Amino acid sequence: MSYVKEAFDRVKLRDPDQPEFHQAVWEVLETLEPVFEKHPEYVEAKILDRLVEPERTISFRVPWVDDNGNVQVNRGMRVEFNSAIGPYKGGLRFHPSVNVSIIKFLGFEQILKNALTTRPIGGGKGGSDFDPKGKSDLEIMRFCQSFMNELYRHIGASIDVPAGDIGVGGREIGYMFGQYKKLTGKWEGVLTGKGYGWGGSLIRPEATGFGQVYFLREMLASKGEKIEGKACAISGSGNVAQYCAMKILEYGGKVITMSDSGGYIFDKDGIDESKLAWIQDLKNNKRGRIKEYISEYKEAVYHAGERPWGEVCDIALPSATQNEIEEKGAKNLVKNGCIAISEGANMPTSPEAYTILNEAGVLFGPAKAANAGGVAVSALEMSQNASFDEWTSEKVDSKLDQIMTGIHKQCSDAAEEYNQKGDLVVGANIAGFIKVADAMMSQGIV
Ligand code: NDP
Repeated sequence: MSYVKEAFDRVKLRDPDQPEFHQAVWEVLETLEPVFEKHPEYVEAKILDRLVEPERTISFRVPWVDDNGNVQVNRGMRVEFNSAIGPYKGGLRFHPSVNVSIIKFLGFEQILKNALTTRPIGGGKGGSDFDPKGKSDLEIMRFCQSFMNELYRHIGASIDVPAGDIGVGGREIGYMFGQYKKLTGKWEGVLTGKGYGWGGSLIRPEATGFGQVYFLREMLASKGEKIEGKACAISGSGNVAQYCAMKILEYGGKVITMSDSGGYIFDKDGIDESKLAWIQDLKNNKRGRIKEYISEYKEAVYHAGERPWGEVCDIALPSATQNEIEEKGAKNLVKNGCIAISEGANMPTSPEAYTILNEAGVLFGPAKAANAGGVAVSALEMSQNASFDEWTSEKVDSKLDQIMTGIHKQCSDAAEEYNQKGDLVVGANIAGFIKVADAMMSQGIV
């Protein structure tokens, strides 16, 4: 049996009840075989066995009081996965589905993604099974403060720097940052995604979605194609999806769908800038549901409980959650002539769906490369905080564009070097892994 297969079996044996983590690990490991043939020193140093075991996993109680005076108890966690190339870095997710398997899958992906950004940041991820939906502002604040009452012991500007993810946006980062400062008496860049004017970077809210589209642009350019005129199906209507849509419109693409966990809307005329601004107000201020769109825009149709992959589109931009493109969705996308996918969400494509898309020759930008723009600008926020500086949005956006273009090149080059030209999944895994592995080799058995 190969070293890779043996290492994966050990992962499953050690934590048999973590399916999402197994999926994320296998998606990487199955592409690394040729790397170990070329670098037997990695095998000897048990780099893989060390890489799949977090350096530290913290789990804690988060008690808080709701608006009716009832005590509620949630579970908080932070997985500090790998610090070989920099302080742990990765988002916090607040969603009822959060468990250790999901946080470990996200943390594992984050290690390689962060390496691809070429910034000095390690990998981590955290969150809670707290459901922010339907909670008042004060409840959100009390929860965030209680969450930070424990987390503050484990993080710091050069130790571990969390950011947002599903259910954690500017509001939650603000409450957590305020509590960190209160508890430690220190103003430091301990969280990214902060508001502009108190340490936040311009373009951070936009970064993941913008970066996803810059990556798409590079993929299409490699085949002589452009975004202009293409019909784009986007899932989600949160942070990533909103700015993905905005950038697609800037490049002259047509956005035909957006969604939330209730279902998706299809607008045959396209979601233009003014309709997108309406969705942003609905989601960010009114905290409404996407189905409300059809009351405002009568030409649109709402499909309850469904994902948008059955619509005829040239490009799919999954930007909601994991495993949202499954076999059926992938078959529909191929049947309807989709030519490219750029993943905004983490692991949104199931392995079975990926096989179908890959065999059909659909251009595929994997999450750890295509959605790295968010963490890349988080690293730029850390740079600005460390130097007490503030950069213009033009400067940050142009650095983001350079980083995403560079990531695409790294992935293409690594794929070519390992005789799998054009396979950006293989390229992203190999390029990210080698960077982390080399750093681990230099630092001894720690
Ligand atoms: P938000 O909370 O802002 O938005 C999430 C969106 O996805 C919402 O529209 C939400 O709908 C929808 N969604 C969540 N869960 C499900 C589900 N089970 N089925 C269908 N739809 C769902 O999160 P983000 O936009 O920040 O994150 C979206 C994805 O992008 C995640 O996979 C995240 O890990 C990834 N990502 C985010 C980064 C960032 O910078 N924010 C960076 C890199 C990756 P509803 O409101 O109904 O729950």
